[in-house]
Amino acid sequence: MDCIFCKIAKGEMSAEVVFEDGDVKVFTDIHPKAPVHLLVIPKRHIESIAHLEANHNDVIAKLIYTAKHIAAEKKLKGYKLVFNVGREGGQVVDHLHLHLLGGWQSGAERSSQV
Ligand code: 5GP
Ligand code: ZN
Repeated sequence: MDCIFCKIAKGEMSAEVVFEDGDVKVFTDIHPKAPVHLLVIPKRHIESIAHLEANHNDVIAKLIYTAKHIAAEKKLKGYKLVFNVGREGGQVVDHLHLHLLGGWQSGAERSSQV
């Protein structure tokens, strides 16, 4: 399967990796929309939130917990967690990913769209 995030997950394609364990990988978005813009992905290929099944509950919990952990490590006071779902929802890469956006100094600087 020709999936760029599977390639990043396997280390076959380079990325600025900030965290990795057996289940997830966190790396910098190539076109950042915020001072800190990271992507949290499961290593297993799941297309999107729309493709979730009941046995994927642990995957979602792990993505959110990882984002929380990295946000605390980076001392982000506030942040956004975003899943784009489907083309109409702004999803371009068909491998589940959670956007972690933050690092703004004030609310006024915040972008509303990823
Ligand atoms: P989506 O729009 O699918 O929710 O988000 C996909 C994100 O992946 C975009 O913000 C885009 O900038 C990022 N992206 C696309 N290709 C690459 C890549 O090859 N490397 C990295 N690090 N980010 C990518
Ligand atoms: Zn994939």
